[in-house]
Amino acid sequence: MSATSLTLPPLPVDPSIDHEIQAIVSGASTAETCNTDLAAGPWNFDDRPGYGPGSSMGDVIPVGSPRQGELPVEYREASPDELDARVRAAKEKLGGRVMILGHFYQREEVVRHADYVGDSFQLANAAKAHPEAEAIVFCGVHFMAETADLLSTPEQAVILPNLAAGCSMADMADIDQVEECWEQLAEIYGDMDAPDADGLVPVIPVTYMNSSAAIKGFVGRHGGIVCTSSNAQTVLEWAFERGRRVLFFPDQHLGRNTAKAMGVTLEQMPMWNPRKPLGGASAGELENARVILWHGFCSVHRRFTVDQIEKARAEHPGVRVIVHPECPMAVVDAADESGSTDYIRRAIEGAAEPTTFAIGTEVNLVQRLAADNPQHTIFCLDPVVCPCSTMYRIHPGYLAWVLEGLVNGEVLNRITVPQDVADPARLALERMLAAKPPAAPASAWENAS
Ligand code: SF4
Repeated sequence: MSATSLTLPPLPVDPSIDHEIQAIVSGASTAETCNTDLAAGPWNFDDRPGYGPGSSMGDVIPVGSPRQGELPVEYREASPDELDARVRAAKEKLGGRVMILGHFYQREEVVRHADYVGDSFQLANAAKAHPEAEAIVFCGVHFMAETADLLSTPEQAVILPNLAAGCSMADMADIDQVEECWEQLAEIYGDMDAPDADGLVPVIPVTYMNSSAAIKGFVGRHGGIVCTSSNAQTVLEWAFERGRRVLFFPDQHLGRNTAKAMGVTLEQMPMWNPRKPLGGASAGELENARVILWHGFCSVHRRFTVDQIEKARAEHPGVRVIVHPECPMAVVDAADESGSTDYIRRAIEGAAEPTTFAIGTEVNLVQRLAADNPQHTIFCLDPVVCPCSTMYRIHPGYLAWVLEGLVNGEVLNRITVPQDVADPARLALERMLAAKPPAAPASAWENAS
């Protein structure tokens, strides 16, 4: 009898990055991770001065950032199955009183409990659309919970399950540094509120959504605006209609990639390093500037390189490379496309033919997209498994803790933006919505899992 070859269907992709890390640490997988400490619970790192293991581990946490108290031992020692059951039971008891939001970069073990999954702005809008929920548990990072607090009603409590879940990029633009920068720029440009003969003020501040509420409030007070990675070009156009220049923070890469696509030259985009006088730029460079770029970056997206793209193209002829605009300029230039997390998701789901995608964004999202779209081959450009350190801080143990707290009538880890910051921060967000009609930003995806 002759042998026949069987074509077996591909094995389903496991969406859990945590499973993959555990397999690497146990030796069951030959893949590589950036830090084997990722296999341990994040409570081991909450009191350390760094962000913990993962992409942001080398970044410095500013003094005064929120710290998380010790998670009770029953949550630290519970098995994954027990935590899963406790989260489900608490959520069921709370019913419509609670809404759980999960960021695209959040680990699978948390996202599966989310009512909505999306980017930070989509999730803040989901919070706004559900005023009946007494508590919004935001499984993301600190600035996202602040934005949800800005857009939700005063009666709603926004909860961040682990207070140590900051964002290293947002933390790179501290309000004191930004105020100091503004004062130094005023010494060069003169009255920052005085329009010139063309009706343009010297500088319009623009902040990326990934910034603290204090920074959004600063921007609101100074005639500026917020942007997302989806609408950065629209927002820059808005700003250039009102100002001679833009001060863009905290992400230099989103600012550079967007302004370059609009025809601004690199010479017109000096960097502002807050640790140097005049940001390290000369008065002449600042005088000729169109966009002053704050010296901030995302440690997750900084890991992507042109070499990775070339390797993907060599190993997968016809591969479609899509990267996030927080990646460095050379990476964006070498990719086929760049766009926000929602753009990436829509591009994959909209591809009619089976396609190979190499994606430059956080690995939890890439793995979930691969699991949800088995008709395509999808992989992360970075071969090293290295999730966002701060998203990683939201472990199911913290989620179970805050939900069971609510069941017992206790609101734990509430995030509240003070009124004097919230009012101008909302103004900056409203300017963004007016610059781009509210219908345009995609809404968060109701979680089917
Ligand atoms: S992926 Fe980057 S920008 Fe997003 S939360 Fe993590 S460090 Fe911040």
